Amino acid sequence: MNLPADFIMRTQPLLKDEWENFLAALDSDAPVSIRLNKRKNNTNRIAPTDNVLWSDSAYYMEKRPQFTFDPLFHAGYYYVQEASSMFVGQAIKQYIKGDVKVLDLCAAPGGKSTLIADLLSEDSLLVSNEVIRSRANILAENMTKWGNPNVVVTNNDPANIGKLKGFFDIILVDAPCSGEGMFRKDEGAISEWSVENVKLCKERQQRILADIWPALKPDGILIYSTCTYNLEENEENVQWIRDELGAEVLPVDTKEEWGISPSFMEDMPAYRFFPHKTIGEGFFMAVLRKKEEEDDAKISKKNRNNKEKYSKADLPASYKSYMSDKEQFTFYPKGDSWFAFPTKLYHDLFLLKSHLNIISEGICLGEFKGKDFIPNQSLVLSNHLNTGAFPTYDVDWKTAITYLRKEALVLSDQPKGYILLTYKDIPLGFVKNIGNRANNLYTQEWRIRSANVPNEELRVII
Ligand code: SAM
Repeated sequence: MNLPADFIMRTQPLLKDEWENFLAALDSDAPVSIRLNKRKNNTNRIAPTDNVLWSDSAYYMEKRPQFTFDPLFHAGYYYVQEASSMFVGQAIKQYIKGDVKVLDLCAAPGGKSTLIADLLSEDSLLVSNEVIRSRANILAENMTKWGNPNVVVTNNDPANIGKLKGFFDIILVDAPCSGEGMFRKDEGAISEWSVENVKLCKERQQRILADIWPALKPDGILIYSTCTYNLEENEENVQWIRDELGAEVLPVDTKEEWGISPSFMEDMPAYRFFPHKTIGEGFFMAVLRKKEEEDDAKISKKNRNNKEKYSKADLPASYKSYMSDKEQFTFYPKGDSWFAFPTKLYHDLFLLKSHLNIISEGICLGEFKGKDFIPNQSLVLSNHLNTGAFPTYDVDWKTAITYLRKEALVLSDQPKGYILLTYKDIPLGFVKNIGNRANNLYTQEWRIRSANVPNEELRVII
């Protein structure tokens, strides 16, 4: 691998006698790993393979399959996620107890948000934010496919969210960085790298951290991570948070056999992943607890006094029954569409709406067109879909791909009306069967565009 000379000069002294092993690892293939959706998962379905040591639901693939042609990929049954970054889950499991409000500030495309969603209680709230609009749409798509109703996707600058003083118990800042840890996976990361860019990244990270800090509750937890190796964007920034913003750096439980390297600074618990020691890409993570500040607690109460205007409109009970556990949800309209959001978190949603630009929220059940109520794809993929509310039809792989390409289907032996298509019993989407053909209701923007459909069924999971 052709590494920039300045990168070598700066990184070799950090790794000392590990340097040659590190270089050899950069010349090997990047591993591919997937993490199963815990709420959709049936563990019997995964082929025996190596699991990611610091996750209880993630596995390495022997080679990279064409995920696009696996219907379960589109159904949110698993997420293709770089293994090292799953270590965030370890911090979440250790420091999050009970019902909490979590912000994933730099969340697109959604790897860590889907991981966090798996680990939170049903009465916890996850706000997944992405500042770049096009990336926020991809994030919303991935979160919808993951299927948790307690998630709100936003598209805001950190400074806007910082105005929600003391609102969040946990904030993850998976910061935009110089990407040294991605050199093996992404050649663009090498050509864009420069010492100047490292400096700019560090400054931007500090701006982001300072902007978002007021939104963290006193005593709240900040998880800071990057996919780069240098000290400036990692330990030096953690030191800066600790000293300038007022925080305590906390340890995370690890096992020796995981191969995680310690911080390069003495007396600072932080966790480093190098490709010659762990099966994954470069990664850095530290966990900090915010020190108590009286002012924050006061403002937090003010935020909560927001006047709530609940909608008086009601959705007919027959449509509410599309959701299992419907009594846990508040149903409300937006234009012709109807949404469900966990009732216990509904006032939080109101507060978020008055401050932030919301891209998606809870579960969209469907939309009225005249007297017809057209069920939405968000309902299909929801972990609260009442499958008993619809006739279902389990399709073979070829039909599933035809459906996901949004092509017309003919289901002449099936009843007329809305039919829920499943693949290996996992919900895929709706069609409206009108007899001689079935109208394909799959979301236009999500369809498989590639026409190079393999001749044989692709199986990532058994
Ligand atoms: N957490 C994501 C995941 O696990 O899939 C990856 C996030 S990526 C490392 C960093 C994200 O920060 C990018 O999506 C990028 O668009 C966003 N970003 C860039 N500039 C930003 C800024 N000034 N403030 C907040 N986020 C920013």
